[in-house]
Amino acid sequence: MLISRHSQLIFSVVLVLIYFASINCHDEEHRLGSTITLRCYGKGKLSWKFNPEELVNNTRIRYRNGTLFPGKSLLLTLTIENATYSDTGNYACVKNGNVINSTDIYVHENKTCGKMIVPLQMKTLKVYTGHDFVIPCRPTRPGVNLKLERKLITDTRIVYKLIPGKGFSILNATNHHSGTWVCKSECQNIEADEQITIEIIKTEIQEPLGSEGDIKMIISDQHESESEMRTILVATLSLIGSLAAAFAIVIFVGFNLIKKERRARRLKAQNISLLFIGVAENIDVNVALDQQADLLPYNPNYEFPRERLKLGRPLGCGAFGRVVRAEASAPLYCAIDDSRKQKTKDTTTVAVKMVKQGSELSQVKALISELKILMHIGKHLNVVNLLGACTTNLSNEELLVIVEYCRYGNLRSHLLKQRENFVDQVDHLKDTLDFTIGVKDYHQLEYNAKEITTRDLVCWSYQVARGMQYLASRRIVHADLAARNILLADHNVVKICDFGLARNLYSYANYLKKSDEPLPIKWMAIESIRDRIFSTETDVWSFGVVMWEFFTLAMTPYPGIPKDEFFMQRLIKGHRLEKPQYATSEIYNIMQKCWDKNSSRRPNFSDLENDIDKILEDNVKQFYLDLNNPYMKLNSIQKEYENLMRTVLTQESQATASNLTESGDGHKSLYFSQDEVKKMLHLEKARDGVLFES
Ligand code: AMP
Repeated sequence: MLISRHSQLIFSVVLVLIYFASINCHDEEHRLGSTITLRCYGKGKLSWKFNPEELVNNTRIRYRNGTLFPGKSLLLTLTIENATYSDTGNYACVKNGNVINSTDIYVHENKTCGKMIVPLQMKTLKVYTGHDFVIPCRPTRPGVNLKLERKLITDTRIVYKLIPGKGFSILNATNHHSGTWVCKSECQNIEADEQITIEIIKTEIQEPLGSEGDIKMIISDQHESESEMRTILVATLSLIGSLAAAFAIVIFVGFNLIKKERRARRLKAQNISLLFIGVAENIDVNVALDQQADLLPYNPNYEFPRERLKLGRPLGCGAFGRVVRAEASAPLYCAIDDSRKQKTKDTTTVAVKMVKQGSELSQVKALISELKILMHIGKHLNVVNLLGACTTNLSNEELLVIVEYCRYGNLRSHLLKQRENFVDQVDHLKDTLDFTIGVKDYHQLEYNAKEITTRDLVCWSYQVARGMQYLASRRIVHADLAARNILLADHNVVKICDFGLARNLYSYANYLKKSDEPLPIKWMAIESIRDRIFSTETDVWSFGVVMWEFFTLAMTPYPGIPKDEFFMQRLIKGHRLEKPQYATSEIYNIMQKCWDKNSSRRPNFSDLENDIDKILEDNVKQFYLDLNNPYMKLNSIQKEYENLMRTVLTQESQATASNLTESGDGHKSLYFSQDEVKKMLHLEKARDGVLFES
């Protein structure tokens, strides 16, 4: 701003100097063929006039407007190239019709006595009687004396007046003025002359003709207004043109952007809705379910009214989205624990998963996949179960997946937090476990979140193995099994989350880059790192690492070993995690089996469950088996229900007039036989029985 003011000031001073310079210079001599430059400065409409015609741009004579500061003074430059004798004359700068500056220009040869008179352009001049006229006879340089004579007539009565730069002015034309006139000059005895014939026209109508000047003035007036009109027209047209062009560009660009945006949205919505439709009949039973999530249909029973869900504080942020605590104030579909409380409580605390703001379509898709996987795998105590979903605002990328709330968060954080309160129940001398060590009431199974015992670690391992066994039975590969993806809920129940996601989503390279996050490669089997193979067997490898995390109280695996390209080489050479401080040899042995280089020699999750089963007391196992019963019952009811629906739908597709009724509006609707209705009601009752048994 300061600089611009400054430069404005300097510019104004320069212009004023130019202005005064041009005002003071009245006579200018220029050589024939040279370039003459005249400048005029002022506010308002400026133009140059020549004897006294308006000068119009042509190939030799050019105007240049200078307006460095819009709205401020103008600089009008007149350039005459290749000057000729006829450029000799008076140049006047006119501002708003008033002459503000005038200069007499003389163009001549560089000789002392070259051409002394500017050649006359016209040979005949017609003048009306009674009018004044000018014989445009001008010297090519100052100081040259001109004389006007009648050719062949010596007439002393001729009265004329020499107007510098213009010529000889004669008043009140009469017949007497007709004839040839000679304009003369003399230099060092060399004579020069120019001749012109005056024709006097007698007229009754006193037309304002009579002199060259008058005639030219009329023409020049027309010219002036015409050129003014032309200038205004050109300026207006170019302004309109520029505005129209700018408008068109803005419209074009805007339209394209909107079109692009709409297309992207439509594409997105289409993609998303396609994901929801699913093609269940194309599902290949031999392929992992998480690989075919697109084919799974959305079950609308899970739709939860958005207005009944009050989002609360954030619980965490995963690699693919964020999770918040929320209160649901309407019954949730198949919510086992909480629907029991529903009788006494108006709201249920839930966890809601959503994608981060402005996330990519791939992340929305991933959450849809997770939702559909959760819907189709059924329920298990040791997985984070789906309770509902809000999908109505999907076009605005709002997809809320409602899952069971796990009060204590993820096990890695929990272990780190409770490290100080760990009760080591390993008899290190005997390398055995003694679950009576450090507990007041051994039979008390209710979880005391304030302390962690070795029994808890075994119990968690057992539950994770069971949860993973269930997932494996449903053809789900977790691909990112780690303590950070296992949540702790009430009753010391652990639940696996984020399954079936990682394999499709994470890029190995991406994970390598994120140094602040625990590196999955330290949880990965050799074949996952080397060949990106993810399977139940690779999940088993990760399970071994999870057990290691438990029994080291959440140490980072392979402490001190960098996450470089040699890491895999170490594993191939047989390097493995060391025995954790709080594990017995028996427990470490279970882990080691998971890390067999040969994936087929690794135990499966049933084996692992059985191995850990041997360590855990029966009452503990029974406690968790009992807790899982309602889930199992629900699953079988759900399966029966789905089978029934499938049968009815198959009937529909082979529809005959007998099992379809046509309603008044022409729509055919499905009807169930009495038997089918009875069966459905029975199943629904059974489901309610599981959900609401006291
Ligand atoms: P995620 O995006 O699923 O990896 O979740 C990120 C974090 O949010 C987890 O590490 C947990 O601390 C927290 N979180 C996720 N799901 C739940 C849940 N159902 N209940 C409580 N906390 C959760």
